[in-house]
Amino acid sequence: MSQKGILIVISGFSGAGKGTLMKKLVAEYDNYALSISMTTRQPREGEVNGREYFFVTKEEFEERIAEDGMIEYAGYCGNYYGTPRAYVEQQLENGKDVILEIEIQGAHKVKEKYPDALLMFVMPPSAQELYRRLKGRGTETEEVILKRMTRAVEESEGIDTYDYIVVNDTLEDCIGQINAIVDAAHNTPDNNEEFIDTIKKELKELLKGDLK
Ligand code: 5GP
Repeated sequence: MSQKGILIVISGFSGAGKGTLMKKLVAEYDNYALSISMTTRQPREGEVNGREYFFVTKEEFEERIAEDGMIEYAGYCGNYYGTPRAYVEQQLENGKDVILEIEIQGAHKVKEKYPDALLMFVMPPSAQELYRRLKGRGTETEEVILKRMTRAVEESEGIDTYDYIVVNDTLEDCIGQINAIVDAAHNTPDNNEEFIDTIKKELKELLKGDLK
């Protein structure tokens, strides 16, 4: 039975550990494909163009928008972030579960365009732990950390628009939760229309013929 992949949107406050989670998911399970976003923000130390993000100029980004090359895009803390369309559609067609690690405005745009998308919000175990993780990263100034914490307050208002929350306390448990949710989504009638239609047809044909 062939099935199209599921489009999975993962959001969460900056510092919730989404990046690490996603890398581990993709490394350990081959049903997932991770979409690489485009951004106008500067690379952090250790980030590689084409791996964490495609780092582009504002002009390049706007060109991509103009040619309808983005599934969605949003402004976040003064920069553009967006999801290039081609890779995502190709991987879904290949049956991969495609993960978009994006913020909340983008998540809502995706849900509008792809109502079957699965929206998950990664929560830190506590607000204090979120602050600790952001500081521990050591790559951001105090000003940027404050901006991101303020943004977290805004984003927390939208958590109830997601389908599921997952708590990133230990990495392994969180990955287990995400896998369980994706497994369940594969078993909804909406994601199995072809299989259900085949069984319906077979049942009717069987009844028309001789039942042995
Ligand atoms: P960061 O600068 O920490 O890598 O990412 C900042 C925020 O942008 C995160 O919440 C991240 O999920 C979000 N983000 C990353 N890529 C995209 C994208 O393609 N579209 C949208 N809407 N948000 C994104």
